[in-house]
Amino acid sequence: MKIEIDKKSGFCWGVVKAIEATDKELEKTGQIYSLGQIVHNKEEITRLENKGMVTIDHDGFRSMKNKTVLFRAHGESPESYITAKQNGHKIIDATCPVVLRLQQKVKRAFKKMQEINGQLVIFGKAGHAEVIGLLGQTEGKGILIEGDSDLDKLDYSRPIETFSQTTMNVDKIKHLIDEIKKRIKDPSLFKTNNTTCRQVSDRFAHLRSFSKNYDVIVFVGGKNSSNSKMLYEECKQNNPNSFFISNPEELKKEWFADTVEKVGICGGTSTPFWLMENVAKAIPEL
Ligand code: SF4
Repeated sequence: MKIEIDKKSGFCWGVVKAIEATDKELEKTGQIYSLGQIVHNKEEITRLENKGMVTIDHDGFRSMKNKTVLFRAHGESPESYITAKQNGHKIIDATCPVVLRLQQKVKRAFKKMQEINGQLVIFGKAGHAEVIGLLGQTEGKGILIEGDSDLDKLDYSRPIETFSQTTMNVDKIKHLIDEIKKRIKDPSLFKTNNTTCRQVSDRFAHLRSFSKNYDVIVFVGGKNSSNSKMLYEECKQNNPNSFFISNPEELKKEWFADTVEKVGICGGTSTPFWLMENVAKAIPEL
């Protein structure tokens, strides 16, 4: 049986940068506080927590003083920077440059929309850290659209400008844009911005062809990673013998019948490469 790991799977460079900064601080001082989960992967979090990283939420962040705190790749809202200053925290800012640029664009567009009585829309998932950071650029006045049911929040007689969470599904964005186009009174009042990250969108096309080349696909991802779930669905649609696992213990012997000759291992942008390597080593042992 041939077992191959997809070389293009694993952390995106935004996550790599955040993890490198954390490892560096841990080697230097043995402690860092991560504001929110550094990556949606339990195994990688455990590895870093064993070295001294502590994951905190925003309440903890507000109540602590003088700590070294990591702002992860998803970015933070302006309020978090103010709190950090007030509480004497040292910030290690690992906001991904792609997210940072998007935050700045949203801030500028919001100012413009204010001047012309327009509405600034963010397509994304409620409660997602990146979305909170983006809405924070709009003094909380940006309108979040998660799906069709939110489209009634908009006034179609006024200007609308849209942005999207970097990891949002492009087909979903296209559908929402088409719906707004149908409703807007004057098309010249509508402006869209393509702000999805290529690190994610390119993987859909890549995994579509990768998954077709193997008898069995083992997708490795965190259970709370929406990016991993979406990429896994792409594999499953193109290869029904695709299985989602979070660690080698979840592998099942019956997936690898005698007729299986080629197994492909892949993962999401939050899956560490070492975890896929552990899965590759565990399959022959079954
Ligand atoms: S998915 Fe893209 S935007 Fe998000 S952290 Fe990775 S590189 Fe940055």
